[in-house]
Amino acid sequence: MKAHDGMYIGGTWRPAAGADTIAVVNPADEQVIAHVPAGSPEDVDAAVRAARDAFPGWAATAPADRAARIAALRDVLAARADEIAATVTAELGAPPKLAETVHAGLPILVAGSYAELAASYAFEEKVGNSTVLHEPVGVVGAITPWNYPLHQIVAKAAPALAAGCTVVLKPAEDTPLTAQLFAEAVHEAGLPAGVFNLVTGLGPVAGQALAEHPGVDLVSFTGSTAVGRRIGAAAGGAVKRVALELGGKSANVILPGADLGRAVNVGIANVMSNSGQTCSAWTRMLVHKDRYEEAVALAAEAVAKYVPGDRIGPLVSARQRERVLGYIERGVAEGARLVAGGPVAPRGTGYYVSPTVFADVTPEMTIAQEEIFGPVVSLMEYEDEDDALRIANGTVYGLAGAVWGDRDEAVAFARRMDTGQVDINGGRFNPLAPFGGYKQSGVGRELGTHGLAEYLHTKSLQF
Ligand code: NAP
Ligand code: MG
Repeated sequence: MKAHDGMYIGGTWRPAAGADTIAVVNPADEQVIAHVPAGSPEDVDAAVRAARDAFPGWAATAPADRAARIAALRDVLAARADEIAATVTAELGAPPKLAETVHAGLPILVAGSYAELAASYAFEEKVGNSTVLHEPVGVVGAITPWNYPLHQIVAKAAPALAAGCTVVLKPAEDTPLTAQLFAEAVHEAGLPAGVFNLVTGLGPVAGQALAEHPGVDLVSFTGSTAVGRRIGAAAGGAVKRVALELGGKSANVILPGADLGRAVNVGIANVMSNSGQTCSAWTRMLVHKDRYEEAVALAAEAVAKYVPGDRIGPLVSARQRERVLGYIERGVAEGARLVAGGPVAPRGTGYYVSPTVFADVTPEMTIAQEEIFGPVVSLMEYEDEDDALRIANGTVYGLAGAVWGDRDEAVAFARRMDTGQVDINGGRFNPLAPFGGYKQSGVGRELGTHGLAEYLHTKSLQF
């Protein structure tokens, strides 16, 4: 696609208030592929005004009509899936197959789910002598990261629109082209002017202006815990709604009854997918001491299949590569045993990191506690189930996890985990299941009816 040199506000592409731009870089070859405008607080203000003006009309639109517009949006995304995949490959570096199946495919699924939910959701319910109305919260300020550029946008915009809210989006500076493509799709789908608006720009400038704007009723943020904490504090100060989807350090718990080969292989695939840039990735693999060395050997074998530039892409930016290499060096310095990969560049150009497996990782090590956001897996040994649970729950995060073993044992273990979702024996992703974190992994849920409810507040009428 061709980059726009303006902002999508009030149903048209209009020039930015200032002249600053952001260079978009292809992380696979380090070439600049486009420039987009870097929005200022003035642009944000114009977008919020457009969203405010559009709000009463969209909120009053019948749910079935909102559903029809979201279905049209889903259809445009499906028709342009190849272009979406190519754009994500160009600005994120995702291998073409992953770009097609996940980066383009998942948002189509999620948009479709909200087309159905908008039509079927009970926006009114009876409670005793009351009628409870579920009404849209208002103008949503959405701030999204680069790791799943379109999914992160659709997971906020689709439920917000289904609820009857209007939206201003500030996407990640590293992946603005996918966001511009989404704005084109919104336009093509015939959503009324001002219902969805896009301001590209830098987090501390455009993002902060959006989060703090008094015309925004709800801030929905996905990204780092550091920025999320600030956004939560600002929202608390202004007494406005906030949803935070933050980091993770999820555990892949392999119980003694598990199919070890499958648990290790799926576990490695889970982390290596998207070059490890997945907040819910199972980056800590917990194995019983009796099968630990067997698991280490299987993990080394499994990770060898992820050849950089083929099955695994680069990281999004030089900055992210430096961060991840720093963690790998830290792991070595703190005494973890490197069984695959390491802090060496696997290719001359591109922000690639060698798929890395550490063994003998102990709970107090930095690489066992902090989110690395790269292709790095830590194998940890446990004595018994209580020890495994202590390790699994022993971080500030609680976003996801996996348990492998006898079904009943696995479910019993999952019930004791402090985390928002657990895959049992390789359970499939469900786009209708609530997604979100316990502890410092966040506040609120995305996807399905729980994701829709984030954008609604209630009014009780008594009779
Ligand atoms: P980030 O800075 O938190 O970025 C997320 C979004 O927030 C981006 O749109 C960003 O804009 C914006 N932002 C940054 N500072 C802001 C501020 N002061 N006010 C309002 N918005 C602001 O995350 P990152 O720097 O891209 O990545 C850093 C780390 O965050 C990663 O290594 C990873 O650990 C974590 N992360 C988590 C997720 C997740 O899905 N939970 C996703 C991505 C990253 P810019 O793009 O201009 O910075
Ligand atoms: Mg940032």
